Amino acid sequence: MHTKPKNTDAALMEKQSFDVTSIKADFPIFAQEINGHRLVYLDSAASSQKPQAVIDAIDRFYSTDNANIHRGLHALAERATSAYEHSRTKVAKFLGGVNREEVIFTSGTTAGINLLSYSLGEQIIKAGDEILITEMEHHANLVPWVMLAKRKNAVLKRIPLTRDGRLDLTKVNGLLNSRTKIVALTHMSNVLGTINPRTEIAEAAHKKGAVVVVDGAQAAPHMPVNVKELDADFYAFSAHKVLGPTGVGILYGKRELLESLPPFMTGGEMIREVNFDNVTWNEVPHKFEAGTPHIAGAITFETAIDYLEQIGMENIRQHEIELTEYAIEKLLQIEGLEIQGPLDSSIRGSAISFTVPDIHPHDISTFLDSKGIAIRAGHHCAQPLMRALGKVATARASFYLYNDESDVDALVEALTEMKKYFRI
Ligand code: PLP
Repeated sequence: MHTKPKNTDAALMEKQSFDVTSIKADFPIFAQEINGHRLVYLDSAASSQKPQAVIDAIDRFYSTDNANIHRGLHALAERATSAYEHSRTKVAKFLGGVNREEVIFTSGTTAGINLLSYSLGEQIIKAGDEILITEMEHHANLVPWVMLAKRKNAVLKRIPLTRDGRLDLTKVNGLLNSRTKIVALTHMSNVLGTINPRTEIAEAAHKKGAVVVVDGAQAAPHMPVNVKELDADFYAFSAHKVLGPTGVGILYGKRELLESLPPFMTGGEMIREVNFDNVTWNEVPHKFEAGTPHIAGAITFETAIDYLEQIGMENIRQHEIELTEYAIEKLLQIEGLEIQGPLDSSIRGSAISFTVPDIHPHDISTFLDSKGIAIRAGHHCAQPLMRALGKVATARASFYLYNDESDVDALVEALTEMKKYFRI
C-alpha cells in the first residue's frame, strides 16, 4: 500500500510528497479505460473508489473469518466479533477520540439520521415544538425531519443562504427560541461545497437547550473531524464515501443522550432480557444495533480509515484545497460557466457544482462520459436547495485524494470541446 508520512510540521515537504500517481496505483478501478479514455473519476461525493487494501480485506473476511458476531463461542465468531469491535474503536479515534460506546454502526448516514428522527424525535418533540434545519440539506437530513414534524405537529424552520451559498448566520438567533428542540445541519454541503460554522451554531443552539445533529457525510471523507470540538451531540457519516464499502456507516452520539434514548429498531442482540410482557435493553451502543449488521462492511471500514490515516487527513484537506483552487480558476475561464457556492477554498470542500448556459447538466454529464469523465448531474438529492438557487439541476465535479491537476485539465478540455459540439 502507498505510504505517506502522517502529519508533521514540514508542510512544504508533505505537499511535495503528496504523490497522486502512487495513490492512484492503489485503486484498481483506474486500470481501465472508459469509452476509450482513461477514467477520470470526479464523482467521489456520490461514492468514493476503493483501494486494493479494502477490497482485499473484504475478501479476507469472507475467506477466513466469516461468522456472526456477539453470539457464537467458537473461534471464528470470536475473531469476527473482535475485529468488529476493533473497528468501532478505530472510528471513535477517527472522530477525534470519543468513547467507543458512543459509536453506533448503521447502514449509512441516512440510517443514522432516520434513527434519530424516531428515537430522539419521539422522545423530545411535542406539538408546537420547532426543528431547525438549513436550506442546503441533502434529503437524508431533510425528509426525516419533515416527516417528524408532520407526525408530531411540530414546526420545521430553516436557516436561509447568502447569495454566495453560505448560511446566513445573521438569521440564526432569530430562528432559535425556547421551543427549538433539534438543530440539524450538514457539516459540508454536497452541492455547494460550503463548510458550515457548526461550532457557532452549536453554541447558539445549546444556549436554547436544543440538541445538535450534524450530517458528516461530505465532511468526514475530506478533513479531520473532531466531534467534541464541534460540540455536535450527534454526527453521522457513511463508509462508502471514505474509501470503505457501501451499506455501512456510523452514528456518533454523546453517551448520556444515547443512554436516555429509546431504541429505534428492536430484535436480536439489542436486548438484556425478554419476556412476553416486558423487555429491557442492552447497553449502548448495542441497544441501537438490532439484528445482524454488515459485519464485513464494519470490519473493512477500519481498513479504509487506516488507509486515509496513513496519508493523513490534514494532508488530504490541503491537497484538495489546492486542487479546488486550481479547478475553480480553470473552470471560470470557460465563458458563461457559473459555479454555485463559495469560491474561497478555506470555507469549502472539493465538490464543485456548475452550470453552462443552454446545456442541460444531464447533457454535460453524458458528453463528459463519452470522454471517460464521471461527474454527477441532477438535483443531488437537494430539491429545496435547487429551488433556492433557481436551478432545476447542476453538474457536479467532486475531487478526492486520487485526483490531480491532470483530471481538472481533462474536465476543462472536455467542457471546452462540448461547447463547440453544442455550438454554444
Ligand atoms: N448527507 C449528505 C450531505 C450526502 O451527500 C449524502 C450522500 O450523498 C447523504 C447524506 C446520504 O448518505 P448515504 O446515502 O450514504 O446514506
